[in-house]
Amino acid sequence: MAYRIPSDAEVVVAIRNVLGRYGTINSQRKLTELVLRSLRRHDSDYTVSEERVRKLALGNDLATVEIRCRDTREKTSAGACPVCGGRTERIRNLTVYGGSVTMGYKCRTCGYWTGLKNRVPTLYIFAPKP
Ligand SMILES: [Zn+2]
Repeated sequence: MAYRIPSDAEVVVAIRNVLGRYGTINSQRKLTELVLRSLRRHDSDYTVSEERVRKLALGNDLATVEIRCRDTREKTSAGACPVCGGRTERIRNLTVYGGSVTMGYKCRTCGYWTGLKNRVPTLYIFAPKP
């Protein structure tokens, strides 16, 4: 099957339209389906991944996201935010000895956080940003 990749600008317009029309959307899959439906009005061969829609929605300030996670036993590693690709900061706690310990990581852009045991996102709820 032939498919084509829409530009970032096209996807952003589609996300804005979908959020404007439907308001809060309680899954990433549903958001992507609606965005795809909007994109395919212009080109029936367009395709877009859920991850790309999520990152464009958050990176372009189109939506706020509520993130449901499950806990894992794996150690969290420092790095880019797994939700939006933004920068994460350490969450620090002061110790009684005057130092500080890392308690986890938090993303400034989308609000994702994790402790030292990795929290893996399982559900995203998107709401349009006014
Ligand atoms: Zn983030």
